[in-house]
Amino acid sequence: MPSIEVRGDEALVRHAIAVVTKVNKPCRRSRTLVVFGCLVSVACLGGRTAGAAAQQAPTSQSSPAIPASPLPAPFPAAPRPPAQPRFVVVLDAAHGGSDTGARLGDPLLEKDIVLALSVRLRSMLTARGIAVITTREADGTLLPVNRAETANHALAAACISLHATATGSGVHLFTSSLPATPPASRFLPWQTAQSGSITQSLRLSSEINSAMAHAEVPVSLGRTSLQPLDSFACPAVAVEIAPLSAAGGSQPAALSDASYQARVVDALAGAIQQWREDWRQQP
Ligand SMILES: [Zn+2]
Repeated sequence: MPSIEVRGDEALVRHAIAVVTKVNKPCRRSRTLVVFGCLVSVACLGGRTAGAAAQQAPTSQSSPAIPASPLPAPFPAAPRPPAQPRFVVVLDAAHGGSDTGARLGDPLLEKDIVLALSVRLRSMLTARGIAVITTREADGTLLPVNRAETANHALAAACISLHATATGSGVHLFTSSLPATPPASRFLPWQTAQSGSITQSLRLSSEINSAMAHAEVPVSLGRTSLQPLDSFACPAVAVEIAPLSAAGGSQPAALSDASYQARVVDALAGAIQQWREDWRQQP
């Protein structure tokens, strides 16, 4: 064992050395540790912690007269990213339980198809590292107020309500028809909380519109008064999926067509991913 030079409180330093040498574990490099307020230089010899030289570590009260063993250079502090709220998406599969929604053909019910789409979209977003909260994961009855509670408590960055219909072609995007309230209004009535997010909801709708156009899915845009959409205190869009008609030379597709569903869900996931980039750059 190398010689041990003892400085300062002898009992304390010897105790620190004892602790270190007792460890005697495999090592790859010599280093300096602080043990019970003592600087302990640990020699790594033959791959084992073989010995130590120690002295009492200087404290704010102690004299700096005792030279300390050389300590490793401190690491520069890693730059901390600015604090930013988590990006959370709320997926609201409309209807459920006794509320079947539209009958889309025997035995297809709107409540079932939107739940399947929500589950599919959730896993696609999760795979892209996006946190998702769903209002329902099973066939249960939910009041609009419960859905809005879920979204508003999550402080969601985007809320997507999923609907389905047998009429029209492609995807219908609805934003709330409430008038926009200036952002300075901090307290909004629950029934019309969406009025504080109208501008962002229109931007989110535009993002989804672009993604659908890229996927060659026709889109129609509308404004409507609808619960829980009007109560969502977050950028919110109701996405209603219709079958794909043969108009415009495109191949027709039924709502139950798995590849058509995948196309729509993939476009939605891409739009939400792009929305995350936009959202991160907001002041
Ligand atoms: Zn519906």
